[in-house]
Amino acid sequence: MVTQAQILQWLEAYATEIEANKAYLTELDAAIGDADHGINMDRGFKKVSIQLPTLTDKDISNILKTVSMTLISSIGGASGPLYGTWFLRASTAVADKQELTAEDVLELLQAGLDGVLQRGKAQLGDKTMVDVLSPSVDAFRQAVEEGTLKAMQQAVVAAQKGLQETIPMQARKGRASYLGERSIGHPDPGGTSAYLMLKSLLGVLDSYK
Ligand code: ADP
Ligand code: MG
Repeated sequence: MVTQAQILQWLEAYATEIEANKAYLTELDAAIGDADHGINMDRGFKKVSIQLPTLTDKDISNILKTVSMTLISSIGGASGPLYGTWFLRASTAVADKQELTAEDVLELLQAGLDGVLQRGKAQLGDKTMVDVLSPSVDAFRQAVEEGTLKAMQQAVVAAQKGLQETIPMQARKGRASYLGERSIGHPDPGGTSAYLMLKSLLGVLDSYK
């Protein structure tokens, strides 16, 4: 079972991971975009981090909804609305749940992905965060009966593979698509931050086993 306390720890861990990778994410976005992805994500998750202590008595769904609102209001660019949508749909998927089973985590991850797909209209292979999120949800589903920790381990392996696979892709969505063939040969910045999000969740689950 994933507890409310673990969700708060995950968000804190992700904010820390984003801060540590702020320059790297920006460097990736400098290669194929406008050099702001690390800045955008760090701005949003610093705000989230400040709010976390005020959320200790909220349920999981409310916590995720607050994160969504914070990201939408503080991050410009494509990633604000996309991550905002991911967290909003994740929040709705676990409404009224006090703890999450592996099935609940699967619902959460699937709902987040569906939101990003609807909002951004990217397809697999377009070189976006979808190329990381989508295979990770599939991997989680395949391993869901083995429990949350094992399923999350598989999800992160698939996310890492998905991220590597964005390198030879040509971007077809977002600013990177303006570069055409010159977007080939670099990992996708949003795919990288999505991988870090899943890795942070695994890190928290792993520390409880
Ligand atoms: P911007 O592109 O507006 O500068 P960011 O640099 O913060 O915003 O985020 C760029 C990332 O957003 C990309 O690396 C990609 O993963 C993601 N992205 C852009 N457009 C889409 C889309 N339509 N669907 C899914 N993800 C997208
Ligand atoms: Mg950018």
